[in-house]
Amino acid sequence: MTDPRLEELAGRLAALRGRITAACATAGRDPGEVTLVAVSKTWPAADVLRLASLGLRDFGESYAAEARDKAGALRAAAVDVSWHFVGRLQRNKCRSVATHSDLVHSVDRPELVPALSAAAMRAGRELGALVQVSYDDDPGRGGCSPEDLPELAGLVTAAAGLTLRGVMAVAPRSLPPRPVFARLRALAAELAAAHPSATVISAGMTGDLEDAVAEGATHLRVGTALFGDRPLASG
Ligand SMILES: *Cc1c(COP(=O)(O)O)cnc(C)c1O
Repeated sequence: MTDPRLEELAGRLAALRGRITAACATAGRDPGEVTLVAVSKTWPAADVLRLASLGLRDFGESYAAEARDKAGALRAAAVDVSWHFVGRLQRNKCRSVATHSDLVHSVDRPELVPALSAAAMRAGRELGALVQVSYDDDPGRGGCSPEDLPELAGLVTAAAGLTLRGVMAVAPRSLPPRPVFARLRALAAELAAAHPSATVISAGMTGDLEDAVAEGATHLRVGTALFGDRPLASG
C-alpha cells in the first residue's frame, strides 16, 4: 500500500538531514550533537506518526490544546516520542503543557516558574526547561532580555520539578541570524558555567539552521522544511 505523504515526508527528511550534515561538516561538528525537533504545529498526528516511523523521536508544538491532543493520539497509538513545547506559554496552560512535554523551550518570565513547577510536581514529572532569550523588541515573539537571563535561570534552578537545561532563541526577522546566534552562544556558555545542567542551545529553524549549527546549536526546531508550508497562518 503506498502512502504518498509518507514518501513526501521521507524525501523532505532526507533533504533536511543532508542540510544538517553539511552544516555540521562546515562547522567541524559531529551531527550526533544536534537534535532535530520536528515542529509539527498545524500538522495532524498522522504526520507525526509517519515521521516517527521514519525514526524521528522529537516533536515540537506551539499551542497547548493542540499539543495535548497530539500527545494523546501518539500515546493511544503506543508510539513513544518526546514532546517539546516551543510556543508562547501562558500561565493557565502550564498544567496541560507539564503533563506531556519533556522540554519546555519558552520559559521567558518569572510568573511561569511557580506555575510550571506546581504543574510538574502535580504530574509527578521532572520537566526540562529552557529560558527563551529575545534579541528584538517585538514582544509578540516572547523571550526575556539577555540581562534578565541569570535571574530567571536562578528561579528555574531553585524550583522543584524543573531542571534548567539551557537557552532558546528565535532570530529576529530584521537582523542577520548568525551574529544573533553568536550572542546566544556566548550567553549560553556563561549560563553553563554557573549551571552545569544547562547545555542546550535551541536555535535555528528552516531558514537559518546553518547559521545556528555554525554557532553551536544543539537543538534545531524545524517545521516548514519537513512538513511543507503550514496550512494556517501561525507564526
Ligand atoms: C513554528 C516555529 C518553528 C518552526 O519554524 P519553521 O520556519 O517552519 O521551520 C520553530 N520555532 C518556533 C518557536 C516556532 O514557533
